Amino acid sequence: MISTAIGAAAVLVAAVAVAASSVVSPAYGAAGVTLDDRVAHAHWRYRDSGKVLSNRVNVQDGVMMRGEWERRLKATNPRLVMRKVDVVALKVRQTLQVIVARNKARRQSRIKLDAFRRNAAKVKAFCAAMPRVAILHVHPSGTRDLKTIKEMLTELNPLVNGSLIIEEANDGVLTTLYPNEVTALAALPVQRYSKFGAAGKRVIEELFFLPRKPETHSFTRFEALFTIGDLLLEQDESKDVYVEEKTFLDFAKRAVRLGLSYVEFTKVEIPPTRKALNRFGELKALIKKETGMTANFVFAFVRTIEPTSLNRGWARDLVNLTTTAEENSLRGIDLLANEVGTPALEKAQGIYMPVAAARQAGETRLKSTMHAGELGDPRNVRDAMIMGAERIGHGVLLREDPVAIEFARRTKVGIVCSLVSNRLLRVQANYRTHPFLRFLRLGIPVSLSTDDEGMFRTDIANECEVAVSNTDVQYSEMVALSRNAVLESFAGSTTKARLLATLAQELKAFEASFKRTG
Ligand SMILES: [Zn+2]
Repeated sequence: MISTAIGAAAVLVAAVAVAASSVVSPAYGAAGVTLDDRVAHAHWRYRDSGKVLSNRVNVQDGVMMRGEWERRLKATNPRLVMRKVDVVALKVRQTLQVIVARNKARRQSRIKLDAFRRNAAKVKAFCAAMPRVAILHVHPSGTRDLKTIKEMLTELNPLVNGSLIIEEANDGVLTTLYPNEVTALAALPVQRYSKFGAAGKRVIEELFFLPRKPETHSFTRFEALFTIGDLLLEQDESKDVYVEEKTFLDFAKRAVRLGLSYVEFTKVEIPPTRKALNRFGELKALIKKETGMTANFVFAFVRTIEPTSLNRGWARDLVNLTTTAEENSLRGIDLLANEVGTPALEKAQGIYMPVAAARQAGETRLKSTMHAGELGDPRNVRDAMIMGAERIGHGVLLREDPVAIEFARRTKVGIVCSLVSNRLLRVQANYRTHPFLRFLRLGIPVSLSTDDEGMFRTDIANECEVAVSNTDVQYSEMVALSRNAVLESFAGSTTKARLLATLAQELKAFEASFKRTG
């Protein structure tokens, strides 16, 4: 199995080398222009266009339209245009580099995953024990597992009104339910959770998770989960604090059991208020006290909010509100929700450019991450990076753009991948071809996370199992994924150093014990 793979790789290396040389040499040699010259010019266009965008938004209080944006990103020197043949050559070169990196990773790995990646029990044992300390892409309300949901429903005893759920969670625009679900909900008696029998309770509990059938879902079916959660868990305002704190603490306790000691939560708290920002600090202290976990927050804007000018105003408010005290727990901004029809340039410029300018002026330390390249316009990752995002949530569609991939490599923009999420929401058809490993092998600091782990019935150990059993990821690459989660976090330097030291220590012990027990 392994020797065949290596043999196939060697043939591919040779074939790619021939293809690369025949494509590259004549095209560049004569003109004295290399592929790297063209890529560098394209990246210079990124930076130059970014400056124009910053000026447009922050100085002129204007808007950059798509037509002008794409024109500005084009090469200004005709000799340095990225032609189709150049794009192909760049892709070929990257594929070659991926193969070289994979072989190097295999040689450097102290544990040989190839020896047991087809053995589910061994993979499970490996992933349960694999050291990891940080997780960076977590939506609190998506974390609740069945145990948490049952306990909350028992405590809150909400009124279950099927017709209301249909009305709110099946609006046909942002949210949808399947026809059989609508029928089942319509047939439910309107009564409190405690009045249902065991089977009825089970039906209500399942409403908090993506259905097991069909296997994958539209983003609107996924979004319905959040509406249902709000409808059933937020009926009694006096219990809001209970729901919030139990959500965070139950997640943190599970995460600690999986070895994690640092988490970054993406939380929607619009519009930003002093009280909401203070709450981040309170939650951070509570989580630390109860579980030992260090938690930080990123303030999430919602890309589907209309008009877009609302987000623009809130971004300014957020920068003005955030003081050094709040920056202790609030580390950055994010942009989330359905990416279809809500492209990054149009939806993010009014948020990200003011925050980037404030950061440059030393007025804030808020960093930027963005959900991009999950669905919708494949140019979103490129535009997110140009707008100053230091880290990308998902980033899958970056695979379409080798020039933007080069930019991510060279500027070390982190990508946080959530494998189960991407498959369930039809971002990536199968795990085997998920680009996280290609990105990692090209030197992009990739890490793994769980996104909405409760709703997707996953956790960080399961993401590891998915990676190991479906791809040829090597042990040294699993180590890199764990390290990148620390390096790409928005934690302060002291926390990062502490986490890296812990991770190094755990890796040493893990490798020693794994060698002994196999
Ligand atoms: Zn997410």
